[in-house]
Amino acid sequence: MAAEPTLQFRDPDAADELVGRLETLMAEIAQPVSVMHVCGSHEQAIAKFGLRSMLPADLTIRMGPGCPVCVTNMPEVDEAVSLARDGAIVTTYGDMYRVPGTTESLGDASATGADVEIVYAASEAVELAEANPNREVVFFATGFETTAAPTAAVLRDDPPANFSVLSAHKYVPPAMNVVAELPETDIDGFLAAGHAAVITGYSLFEPFVEEYETPVVVGGFEPLDILLGLERLLEHINDDRAALENAYPRCVTEDGNTAALEAMWDVFEPTTGEWRGIADIPDANLVLREEYAEYDARKRFDIDPDVGTADPLTAECRCGDIMAGTADPDDCALFGEECGPQTPVGACMVSSEGPCKIWLEYGGKPDL
Ligand code: SF4
Repeated sequence: MAAEPTLQFRDPDAADELVGRLETLMAEIAQPVSVMHVCGSHEQAIAKFGLRSMLPADLTIRMGPGCPVCVTNMPEVDEAVSLARDGAIVTTYGDMYRVPGTTESLGDASATGADVEIVYAASEAVELAEANPNREVVFFATGFETTAAPTAAVLRDDPPANFSVLSAHKYVPPAMNVVAELPETDIDGFLAAGHAAVITGYSLFEPFVEEYETPVVVGGFEPLDILLGLERLLEHINDDRAALENAYPRCVTEDGNTAALEAMWDVFEPTTGEWRGIADIPDANLVLREEYAEYDARKRFDIDPDVGTADPLTAECRCGDIMAGTADPDDCALFGEECGPQTPVGACMVSSEGPCKIWLEYGGKPDL
């Protein structure tokens, strides 16, 4: 039997070579460097493959606001719970099911009789509406550009009248501005999310690079992609060059998926909104434009979120600090104790892209 070819993205020699380059570059830079990724999938890969254990000691990777579930605000969850309690079928992605609202999660509501359905795509929510013409079906739409574009597509495809969208979609670039302006973060370069850039194109980051004079490298999600992205960032930092580079050219183009972007901006407009635990961020929440008002759950229903008293532990949650890059999950006193995947206090312990869940699963920062 012929030997299996070596998987191109799991090549140990190539990884060693890149790690060697990182060491050389850090020696030349001769001072600590902090880079930030803005993507839960990057954190997942970094933790799963133990990449931090391979990096030079004074190269720190911080986590940014890259987990869409984690930044979905508590009142947005409350709105979804309220709609489910009022008799609508509320559909949402599985990661949102256990995210705590002020008094309960959608999972809690479901356990006590509310109709909550997990879907894998916005189109499934539309199918559910078609199959239940006598029920209101609300899609609690969360996520960044990668999921906002498909939500837009179903709204442009003449969905049934009993379908509506409760949008909690978020737009990443304004959040990067906020993080870059935080004096505590002091980030030397950003590793941008390759999958979002498939939609937006890497040129989206040009204004950021110019304004903040900080390099941005778009990176993929295989271990070698991440090491390559870090190597490119260190090269730019070493050369004191605020450059934008696409280190994921097999998937990302300069202008992205223009049809998806056109659909997204046709349906949504940006507005100021709170990212859970981080800040009110101008132009970072996506709401339905007036032309799609008939499908806007906030306009169709008189939503009265049952905002009660949040669990006192919630105040201790450091999720916002973690997503802003100023704390690590194990800086939180509740990490792995009062807060775990079965008893999440904050949203960062819920999603597979949540930094606290990832660190609990894979051991977090190696103590070498
Ligand atoms: Fe919040 Fe739990 Fe993470 Fe602490 S461990 S920051 S309580 S999600």
